[in-house]
Amino acid sequence: MQIGKMKASLRILLCGVFLLGCNPAETGVSHRDILDDYKALNIRVGRVSHPLLVANHDICDQTIDDNGIRWHQLEDYPEDLQPVAQSYWDVSETRSIFYVLPGSEADKAGLKSGDRPSDSVLDEIGTETVCRYAVLVSYVDEINAYATGNEIIVTSGMLRSVENDKYLALILSHEMSHNVLGHVDNPDVIDIEDQADQAAIKLMARAGLDFEEAIESREQYQQSSANGGQLPVTEKDRIAKFKSYSQSTKSKQSKGEAVWP
Ligand SMILES: [Zn+2]
Repeated sequence: MQIGKMKASLRILLCGVFLLGCNPAETGVSHRDILDDYKALNIRVGRVSHPLLVANHDICDQTIDDNGIRWHQLEDYPEDLQPVAQSYWDVSETRSIFYVLPGSEADKAGLKSGDRPSDSVLDEIGTETVCRYAVLVSYVDEINAYATGNEIIVTSGMLRSVENDKYLALILSHEMSHNVLGHVDNPDVIDIEDQADQAAIKLMARAGLDFEEAIESREQYQQSSANGGQLPVTEKDRIAKFKSYSQSTKSKQSKGEAVWP
């Protein structure tokens, strides 16, 4: 988690609430609800992205040893949320655990949100080597995801819109591929989106994730959001390419061949 981003994204949300004239008391959306929601979205993104970051660490340019703890402290929150964060979650000026990634070493060690483990406890916790890409939630209604070279950003609008975790994994894998392939520094590469789609299937395959279900879910999602249920030609073309990348990756897997590069 990148602290500055989190503060900014929560601030955007609060501004959104106030711009709409939504007094939390009138809408029933309390500051506690906002915090709970933000945390739940972060946990989902952490849980879905983690297998991709672990399984593909050998092809990322930078890695980090991850124990699964995500920290927070008071200064991470915008000023108007600080009193709520303090009373609701006991957030203080020293760091405590925001959340623990499900299935991580810290989770296995029994650590929980709100804990303040000592250094000796932390030293005992194992780690996994993962790609050093922060995966962040930007709290805006716009449906979007993008890569910055060393981060993957997904909006809360997209997280609410895409309910299927396999499809979400495909979206995150596509953005991760832009980072792995260095596209942010070379945006003029031809077929950049095709390359990222093809790589996304490979990264999912390496993580043992069901990319066929992800593609099906994408197709259903696009179908249901298309005008009159008719997929645009570009989307039809993209789905067809996804299916062909899926076929070639499955064929490699069945022959026991490496799916990357
Ligand atoms: Zn892309």
